[in-house]
Amino acid sequence: MLVVMHAHATEEQVRAVCERIESLGYKALPVPGAGRTAVCITGNKSVVDVGSLESMSGVAECIPVSKPYKLVSRDVKEENTVVRIPTPLGDVAFGDTTLAIVGGPCAIETREQAFAVAKGVKAAGARLFRGGAYKPRTSPYSFQGLGEPGLQILAAVRDEFGLGIVTEAIDNESLDLVEKYADVIQIGARNMQNFSLLKRAGRSKKPVLLKRGMSATLDEFLMAAEYVMSEGNYNVILCERGVRTFSDFTRNTLDLSIIPAVQKRSHLPIVVDPSHGTGKRHKVLPLSRAAVAVGADGLLVEVHHDPDRALSDGMQSILPEEFAQLIVEAREIAAVLHRTVN
Ligand code: PEP
Ligand code: MN
Repeated sequence: MLVVMHAHATEEQVRAVCERIESLGYKALPVPGAGRTAVCITGNKSVVDVGSLESMSGVAECIPVSKPYKLVSRDVKEENTVVRIPTPLGDVAFGDTTLAIVGGPCAIETREQAFAVAKGVKAAGARLFRGGAYKPRTSPYSFQGLGEPGLQILAAVRDEFGLGIVTEAIDNESLDLVEKYADVIQIGARNMQNFSLLKRAGRSKKPVLLKRGMSATLDEFLMAAEYVMSEGNYNVILCERGVRTFSDFTRNTLDLSIIPAVQKRSHLPIVVDPSHGTGKRHKVLPLSRAAVAVGADGLLVEVHHDPDRALSDGMQSILPEEFAQLIVEAREIAAVLHRTVN
């Protein structure tokens, strides 16, 4: 159930509605919008009796929400959510008319490696740097990431180059550290339905970049975002990174058609990861072009200065020069959609 307030409703009126909802034994989650505030009712096990709410002052209408997700839904908030990441080089926005580009290696390997890639990423014009200190690997014998020393290298990258940091947390313990060092907490495909991790990320003050699980449906993806938001963190960026299909010429099948589908249902920004989405270096540029054309709010790209010697995902990592070219082309395609590259 959604209680839609009048555009001119006062803060006290919103508060009174929330108190009434809580007194009925439910949870009230106010979602302020540009034009009006909506209050989401959750925790109801049966149909909410709206009688007493509809007549309260400041209330425009009560709408039953039939979809399983509420806070992520456009029914609750019509206009796009813009997630702003402050960096020493200026704010990067996800979800406005600019495109946010994130570049960096799959994993942080050494300080020299991270600095070499960061130099190229910055020179290409990006303001956000990615790189895993905790790597969820298929094999326990593969490189698992440097852990906290890797986060310290990322912090040094921010200090040296002014780039904002996006890095993955794989469990509650690593999330405690990631939120200390990073600007954006990445939740990976393998953890998209790790509900305790999603709730922990929802209690963080840092924005969350949530990747689609490799076999997640659209509803499952949006419900994962709902988990984060239901704990109070509304700064969620979705990321399409390919799903598993019968296609055997790519690592994953990049499902670009989910972009307009998400944008129809949700106000949250969504970006595309063409690196994991294809698994092949030569496909990263063409799929990046397509992602921009389809309306993605940004790109998350794996970049390595020596990809053949990378400790993970070298096959899908592009060189810094190729990343620079990717941004040039993304900018040209974005212009057709009246968008610019941040
Ligand atoms: C990554 O971004 O390096 C990563 C592990 O991605 P995903 O969770 O999409 O596989
Ligand atoms: Mn990777």
